[in-house]
Amino acid sequence: MFSKDISGRFESEQTPFYHYDLPLLKQTLSECAEAAASYGFHVHYAMKANFNSRILQLVKDAGFGADCVSGNEVNKAIEIGFSPEKVVFAGVGKSDREITEALNHNIFCFNVESVQELEVINDLALKAGKKARVALRINPNVDAHTHHNITTGLAENKFGINQWELPACAEVLTHAKALWLEGIHFHIGSQITDLNVFKSLCVKVNEIKVWFEERGFNIRVLNVGGGLGIDYYQPDVHSIADFKGYFGIFNQFLERKHGQEVHFELGRALVAACGSLISRVLYVKKGIKKNFLVLDAGMTELMRPALYQAYHKIENISKAENEGLVRYDVVGPICESTDCFGKEVELPESERGDLVAIRTAGAYGEVMASRYNLRDEIRFLYSE
Ligand SMILES: *Cc1c(COP(=O)(O)O)cnc(C)c1O
Repeated sequence: MFSKDISGRFESEQTPFYHYDLPLLKQTLSECAEAAASYGFHVHYAMKANFNSRILQLVKDAGFGADCVSGNEVNKAIEIGFSPEKVVFAGVGKSDREITEALNHNIFCFNVESVQELEVINDLALKAGKKARVALRINPNVDAHTHHNITTGLAENKFGINQWELPACAEVLTHAKALWLEGIHFHIGSQITDLNVFKSLCVKVNEIKVWFEERGFNIRVLNVGGGLGIDYYQPDVHSIADFKGYFGIFNQFLERKHGQEVHFELGRALVAACGSLISRVLYVKKGIKKNFLVLDAGMTELMRPALYQAYHKIENISKAENEGLVRYDVVGPICESTDCFGKEVELPESERGDLVAIRTAGAYGEVMASRYNLRDEIRFLYSE
């Protein structure tokens, strides 16, 4: 729950807006950085989770690198002041323009997702008179045991290079004059809460690393991606992910040679908890079987529930907790039936004008906002 001070501040604000708790963000970043440093690991922030400039600035100040999935993200990372030496660029569909711009920025590494992309980067690097550092994004066929819409590491997914294509990659890398193989890269999905999944990933990484080493490639970087899940159900109990436990798994199960670096790309676990979408009840509709709370925020502000049935904790912050609970379907104003934040949500009896907080919305929230229905631009409020 929010302190009286903060919810008091919300009362006079125009809704809806995102509230970012910057002290919580700083605490999360420092716990993550400290845990990573204790094993000598490197963390890049997956900026697609939230590229709000205030947030990026704090992430950069905490010493993280940037993991980008578009040319504009690469440009923004550099503009914010991330060192190009700490910028990586992934994505199944990098355009020629995006690749060339990233080459001109001298970024640390391209995470390459197909044999054809290797050839294209080589050609563009030759043209630009540059050498491109690359890591192969390999699809390890590990099931992330998460929602199927956010699984990325199975053979049926569009992401990454399948293992049977590795000989073809090795062949290209041997002859491509403008490519330098920096390492191997994996990212198997998001919101992974079963840490055994990461153990399985380590086993695969070890295997694939040896495959390359046996063929004479020096694998300096093992990039194991992101995907660490968080607790959407109890945001105040577990407001910071167990970074020590997470990194500890990789420390225990990854086989590292001297000089081999381990890189991570965390998004959600760094920024989700610090954000809440604050909205106001517009109408209370009493039905025969159902009651509806109609909010002034909808899928245009936070798309995750509509997109992948994601759960977010919903709180009425104008009412005391557990006072005359009623079940509501909490919905937005957008002309789509999937514009629903939660069904049968138990809340104190609510009325027009009450403030409602949709918690843990700092990742994949603001960045997915749209103007559908010609909605207003999204607004923000920060706690310093
Ligand atoms: C989205 C993404 C991440 C971050 O995933 P989280 O679940 O937010 O940690 C990391 N790496 C790549 C390549 C991604 O696409």
